[in-house]
Amino acid sequence: MVQYTLKPDMNFVQDLQEAGGNNLKRCFQCATCSVACPLAPTNAPYPRKEMVWASWGLKDRLMRDADLWLCHNCGNCSDLCPRGARPADMMAAARDMIYKDLTTFSVVGKWMSKASGLPWLFLVPAVIWFVIWAIRAVCKGSWFPRAADGRIVFGEIFYGDYTIDPIFIITFFGACFILYRGARKLWEMFKPEGELLVVGKQKFWICYLVSVLMDEVVTHRKFDDCEDGPVTGKVVPNRKFGHAALVYSFTILAFVTAVVALGHWGGKIIPTIEIQTPMPLTFPIKILANIGALLLLCGLGALTWRRLSLSRSNHASGFYDWYLLGILWLVAATGILSQYFRLADALQPAFVLYYFHLVFVWMLFAYLPWSKLGHFVYRTAALVYVRMYGRS
Ligand code: SF4
Ligand code: SF4
Repeated sequence: MVQYTLKPDMNFVQDLQEAGGNNLKRCFQCATCSVACPLAPTNAPYPRKEMVWASWGLKDRLMRDADLWLCHNCGNCSDLCPRGARPADMMAAARDMIYKDLTTFSVVGKWMSKASGLPWLFLVPAVIWFVIWAIRAVCKGSWFPRAADGRIVFGEIFYGDYTIDPIFIITFFGACFILYRGARKLWEMFKPEGELLVVGKQKFWICYLVSVLMDEVVTHRKFDDCEDGPVTGKVVPNRKFGHAALVYSFTILAFVTAVVALGHWGGKIIPTIEIQTPMPLTFPIKILANIGALLLLCGLGALTWRRLSLSRSNHASGFYDWYLLGILWLVAATGILSQYFRLADALQPAFVLYYFHLVFVWMLFAYLPWSKLGHFVYRTAALVYVRMYGRS
């Protein structure tokens, strides 16, 4: 007979309540939420069991729960809960708690968990980019220098080769490494004791990853199964369009960045592939970049509108939700406005906005492993795990 020792952690319950699961104690285990959930399988439904674990302070059990990551946060369960226990918010809060502790530099996780940490999150890149600006201003003899031909060129201050490229390369790969370690830790936590058997035909893990990416990212097919409205009858703007627009815009902007980096650095070896920045507005890569920026705005608009349309009585939006939307809005707004002022030949506003753009882009990438955006990696790991081994 298998024996389980329950280890309640009442501080965890309190933290969970503060992070957005404040109604979890109202749950009386009727299981309506598990029946309402369009994604929960019949053999191990959620989120009812997660509500018990959360209420009892079973942090270990929740942290090992792959189902937590399968939830699409559609909110149908919260809409139908007869007690207003808001299970969707509890699931989201539990994920947020896991981001906080999953990776090293837990001080960043602490800053990321509350609005009071925001000044610190902002201050780190603000100081880094200000110091670079100050050093370059001394070298150039001006805080707002123009290029030799009179144009506004941001590289006159934020010189790519020695400032932007090394800082963002270190930040990006550092964030990828931390994300990788977090995903590995999560994977190990999912594993039950004893040997694991692959469900169905044994395939290399990459095959499972490809099928997850096709369903969840490329086609966004899974979002059709977890749509708002059909189950509850309450119509709020669908997340599929906003989420897809955001994912496609990230893909386009990542591609553009890679091509420009290749053109810049590769051009030092093969001059024919060199790409000069700033690029003219009619240059194909610039057109693609602007399409990516437009998609980003559309996705952000749709997701922000959806969040504002949610019923306040059944859905709470926490700091993690607003932090991600806020930082993406700031990245988009400062990027577009700095480009506008550069073209309008407004020297000071162009440089100041570009400085803030660099600060917000750094915040987006550097804090990614502790932010809601990290779900892209952690959720993918959980989905691959579940497709390979099923649920424990
Ligand atoms: S969260 Fe609500 S719907 Fe789910 S079991 Fe508890 S009371 Fe029932
Ligand atoms: S939010 Fe949606 S996907 Fe998540 S548990 Fe509730 S009904 Fe299921």
